[in-house]
Amino acid sequence: MSTLQNLLPGQMAPTHIVVGTHNAKKLSELTQLLSALPLQLKSLAEVAEPLTVEETGASFIENARLKASQQAVHLGCWTIGEDSGLCVPSLGGAPGIHSARYSDPGATDQRNNEKLIDELRNSDDDQRRAYYVCTIALSAPDGTIYIEAEGRCHGRIIREYRGEGGFGYDPLFEIPEYHLTFAELGAAVKSVLSHRARALEKFSRQLMHLMRT
Ligand code: IMP
Repeated sequence: MSTLQNLLPGQMAPTHIVVGTHNAKKLSELTQLLSALPLQLKSLAEVAEPLTVEETGASFIENARLKASQQAVHLGCWTIGEDSGLCVPSLGGAPGIHSARYSDPGATDQRNNEKLIDELRNSDDDQRRAYYVCTIALSAPDGTIYIEAEGRCHGRIIREYRGEGGFGYDPLFEIPEYHLTFAELGAAVKSVLSHRARALEKFSRQLMHLMRT
């Protein structure tokens, strides 16, 4: 039977993992969702001189792989890379992989949301359908990707902000079944329904398998 040690001679199975994101809100969602696993998680704020990885991929998963493998090789640690964003099919999938800087290179959540409201100003309910995507990759210290997972969460973009919680596009992203935005639903509901929760559920199952083999 192949074991992780056979696959990567001299490398330990991942018990310590760096979560490769600089986004504090994402980090807090990721660490909360991974807290059930027997792992020591470290954020980039806790490691010396982390790399700033350029998101040059053409898809969410390509960017997640880059964030995981480049940081892992740089730090010599098992590393999780995450890339996520919002897709609106009636806008050709925008903001998509450009979600963080949709309005301009120095974008803020406020400016991104204003642009989204503006782009959909004349759109009907059907054209307001949208989904969040989250992709997660785990890299070994040598840059080999061991796990990839994706989660999606479907909703629609409303016309005006509602709610104070979450981050990014959450005050505009309504879950139709609840008639509430992610910013209104709060962390407890988001931690069950979100794209990040769904990706992490698949990721965790694969990680448990990897740690047992
Ligand atoms: P990344 O750091 O390149 O992955 O940027 C992801 C961007 O997508 C964020 O800056 C947000 O604008 C958006 N995004 C991703 N996940 C969420 C979420 O859970 N809520 C709201 N916005 C999100």
